[in-house]
Amino acid sequence: MTDHREPLPSVLETIGETPLVRVHDSPDAAPVYAKLESFNPGASIKDRIGKYMLERMLEEGTIDPGGTVIEPTAGNTGIGIAVAAGQLDLNAVFVVPERFSVEKQQLMRALGADVINTPSEDGMGFAIERAHQLAEELENAVVPQQFSNPLNAEAHYATTAPEVDEALDGEVGAVVAGCGTGGTLMGMAEYFLERDPDTHVAAVEPAGSAYREFFGEDVDHEEYKTEGIGTHDIETNELFDPDLVDEIHAIPDRDTHEEMARLARDEGQLVASSAAANAVAAKRVARDIAEGTIDAPSDTVVTVFADSSERYLSKGVYRSFEEWEG
Ligand code: PMP
Repeated sequence: MTDHREPLPSVLETIGETPLVRVHDSPDAAPVYAKLESFNPGASIKDRIGKYMLERMLEEGTIDPGGTVIEPTAGNTGIGIAVAAGQLDLNAVFVVPERFSVEKQQLMRALGADVINTPSEDGMGFAIERAHQLAEELENAVVPQQFSNPLNAEAHYATTAPEVDEALDGEVGAVVAGCGTGGTLMGMAEYFLERDPDTHVAAVEPAGSAYREFFGEDVDHEEYKTEGIGTHDIETNELFDPDLVDEIHAIPDRDTHEEMARLARDEGQLVASSAAANAVAAKRVARDIAEGTIDAPSDTVVTVFADSSERYLSKGVYRSFEEWEG
């Protein structure tokens, strides 16, 4: 385990070992704890997969030093990959649908990466196609492809989950996490289900997103403002395994917006919308454990706060619900 108080050789060693903090507004009988992932150097949970995927791909010879990593990404993964690429002698190129936060795109460029924008209306599927086309045109180039790369979930199995486990002395009854790629939830679920097959696993998505289709439900797709979680197209996702998941919570943007403001005001937590959606869902799971409607091996509920609200201030996250732009 890296001791962050010791002198460290590079910023890569500051990734992970993030604080785990109690969400006050959760029952004493079933406390919720959140992993504060904005403490990573690129300020999000995706630094973990940037470092993990690139180090593994270099070890396995999937890419050689001097090569180019091309990823279709909404932003945080790009920042995570850019942080790692810069320190591992790799170039980084990102294909980003233009509706995503401009702050994130500026940070990717500042870290030395190239950003290519695709039209928002063409969606993530088109960005993925473009990334693969580019990789074919270049020598020594790979698309890590976080939506299908098992190393994504493995990063959380190898780092996020054991850190939580150690901090709570193994007292983990439920894991709750919003799904973009589903890597965070899958990696943590695999780890804790191996420890205890009765661990409760809850997925989170914004209302209007299509993750529920994995469970055979029909969904009226609707736009949502919550960023970083949810999907309109489950076909592009090869990581999410519904068999590991007990339930899925679809959180309306309005509830997420209210919780984002509450977390800042009452708990000093400047966290973004996906974190707030996770908090809403994790508190529901905690209430169900406290009331005995969910039977979990321990009363403690764990979730992640993936990034900070500062990254979305230009979108008006702390203005009125109507003024918030997704
Ligand atoms: N929150 C934010 C802000 C994110 O950027 C992401 C990744 N898209 C997630 C949550 C979801 O993480 P995962 O891809 O591991 O499901």
